[in-house]
Amino acid sequence: MSAQLTVHNSLTRQKEVFNPINEGRIGMYVCGPTVYSDVHLGNCRTFVSFDVIYRYLLHLGYKVRYVRNITDVGHLEGDVDTGAEDKIAKKARIEQIEPMEVVQKYMNGFHDMMTVFNTLKPSIEPRATGHIVEQIEMVQQIIDNGYAYEKNGSVYFDTIKLAKEDGRYGKLSGRIIEDLLVETRDLKNQSEKNHPSDFAIWIKAAPEHIMRWNSPWSVGFPGWHLECSAMSTKYLGTNFDIHGGGNDLKFPHHENEIAQNYGSCDCEPANYWLHTNMLLMNGKKMSKSVDPETGISNSIAPGELFTGDNPNISKGYSPMAVRFFMLQSHYRSTLDLTDVALTAAEKGYRRLMDANKILQDLSHPGKGSAGELDKEIQELIQLAYTDMSDDFNAPKALARLFELVTKINGLKAEHLAFDQITPETLVTLKATFTTFIFDIFGLLDDALAGGGDGEYETLDGLMQMVIKIRQSARQNKDWGTADTIRDTLKALKIQLKDGKDGTAWSKE
Ligand code: AMP
Ligand code: ZN
Repeated sequence: MSAQLTVHNSLTRQKEVFNPINEGRIGMYVCGPTVYSDVHLGNCRTFVSFDVIYRYLLHLGYKVRYVRNITDVGHLEGDVDTGAEDKIAKKARIEQIEPMEVVQKYMNGFHDMMTVFNTLKPSIEPRATGHIVEQIEMVQQIIDNGYAYEKNGSVYFDTIKLAKEDGRYGKLSGRIIEDLLVETRDLKNQSEKNHPSDFAIWIKAAPEHIMRWNSPWSVGFPGWHLECSAMSTKYLGTNFDIHGGGNDLKFPHHENEIAQNYGSCDCEPANYWLHTNMLLMNGKKMSKSVDPETGISNSIAPGELFTGDNPNISKGYSPMAVRFFMLQSHYRSTLDLTDVALTAAEKGYRRLMDANKILQDLSHPGKGSAGELDKEIQELIQLAYTDMSDDFNAPKALARLFELVTKINGLKAEHLAFDQITPETLVTLKATFTTFIFDIFGLLDDALAGGGDGEYETLDGLMQMVIKIRQSARQNKDWGTADTIRDTLKALKIQLKDGKDGTAWSKE
């Protein structure tokens, strides 16, 4: 069914035919979260994008080893030159708890959110603190190969040496050696680095720093970039197929990962680098800082999105409506979160699920030949696969499914005739539709997720009735009844949210 797979490779900045190193198998490494605070929706966008990629590769029949790490040490709040603090250590200090309590808390939250979004679990989820030995070994290899130097117990990667070797440093991010060399910031007095673009691969711990390990150079901790080089090498080998992450990680994180792999084994880690684009809200980068004019921050936590408890949205949206919303844009495009777009996505999601139910209930009368309609359906199915094989173009494939929705609704309403399609085509359509929406796009039907077939519909029907009774009570100024309804629902953990388009309900 599927066309040849092509992927956009950030290394070459073009689409390439995908050829795995070992036939039938794929090694994929995706940079996971730094678990020092609640996972934000931007992170979720990136992980949902890679979930769709992973699902499609599995669908194509590949055996995929999907490694996604947890960063639990080494990610600094700024640069090592300015004495920046480790993000997890800082949180532990502020909350007066163990760093590993910080890690556990936010890692649990991250996992819960990944489950809510119905993402598949990676094959291996290694943690940086569990691989200190491998990281120390890699630092030693890099020093032995002459690509790193030690200063007062810390070890720095020599970027200029690598950059001089045929542009090996800077090729992913497009930084060129001339730019690196002319950087004039004189760090001689404040920094131990030979050059501003050099980066720490081992950092000597200050006395107050609690996350620390013995090493040949000092009691200290690894630099952030090192964990991904060490863990990808350990689980996928020195050269593997796909490396992914958000495009904000291209520089310095991924560029430095490549440098470390060259430095330690003279090898190029991944053949294909895939980068997802950023999540925006109302056209602006999502940010937690408060707008002085509106007093509102341009950010939203996933939980707030589900309950509707955020001034940027008029009501709550289900996780599957949000996942559908994410599928509507290509992983390399920015995604702009707005209330209007979410409402449209919610409608689209419901339409898709309803069409699937209609489709699965359709039965072919038995007589039918391959007419024009049959041909169109076959073509749309083929095109949906072609789109997914074209750098995982989920929004285009989704649009093909909606063309099929029109056909499905047409068959149900008898605008379109069964004698135009063969029974076999209906069988293929049923199978393809469920494969796409559930296996490849990873959606669940909310109506079924509520537990038991039809339970959600029953509840929703009752809620619509309650909402109407409340509305008429308010119109009649019968505040007693209106309040009783609200209080009773509150006790049942059901929230009502009044918006422009009426009242929505959600369950906590
Ligand atoms: P972090 O926990 O900051 O290391 O980020 C985890 C992953 O989420 C990385 O792959 C980031 O590139 C990605 N990411 C961070 N912010 C956003 C955003 N606004 N939109 C999409 N992906 C993001
Ligand atoms: Zn990484």
